[in-house]
Amino acid sequence: MRKPIIAGNWKMNKTHEEAVSFIEEIKGNVPSSSEVETVVCAPALFLKEMNDKAEGSDVHVGAQTMHFEESGAFTGEISPAALKDLGITYSIIGHSERREMFNETDKSVNQKVHAAFEYGITPIMCCGESLEQRENNETEQVVREQVTKGFEGISAEKASDVVVAYEPIWAIGTGKSSSAEDADETCGTVRKVLAELYDQDTAEKVRIQYGGSVKPENIDGYMAKEHIDGALVGGASLKPDAFLKLVEAGR
Ligand code: 13P
Repeated sequence: MRKPIIAGNWKMNKTHEEAVSFIEEIKGNVPSSSEVETVVCAPALFLKEMNDKAEGSDVHVGAQTMHFEESGAFTGEISPAALKDLGITYSIIGHSERREMFNETDKSVNQKVHAAFEYGITPIMCCGESLEQRENNETEQVVREQVTKGFEGISAEKASDVVVAYEPIWAIGTGKSSSAEDADETCGTVRKVLAELYDQDTAEKVRIQYGGSVKPENIDGYMAKEHIDGALVGGASLKPDAFLKLVEAGR
């Protein structure tokens, strides 16, 4: 059985004070991490204090991106070693916004997945097609390529610890969520590709999230599906009450 994982992706939102009080508000109210993994991926500036506040609770604090090098001349970037030093154990990798606006590629995503394991960080690796690709019936091909390249050189043992987030780009922040059936079909494709790359047993262990306009009103439909093990949530993760409903739905 795969343990559900509900992750919030705050993107570039909130002040420091709002970020810390969010953790204070939710930390006593999330389900036990033996039932559901709860992760809040916040701007890097807030991670230390959020993580300190979350200590001893079932809330995990994660980064939204990281570099693959330990240190060096990479102005503005976030080192995986620095994340590890703060006790951060999750990072989103290869979100479509980073691929589209910050030139991330399947190659750099793969380098980051490798680096994440080197620093004890669980990668939440994103994939998903654009509207144009969907309309051209290229969804399977796009996702297959992103997953194959993202997992390159990753051992089966490590692969089973990767969290894959399937986020169709046309569903992100648009309110136009994918139907649960369509999302499950593509998450099933991800699992099929993993079974081809590794074996069925490894593929069955990998947790696959759906992301794209998930909210308390529609999460149950996704969670009921065979291949969907959680959600990566943007907008609806920003309010404590909505986020708590989402993690509750992960049970
Ligand atoms: P929304 O939930 O706001 O559509 O964002 C999805 C997302 O990009 C999460 O990473």
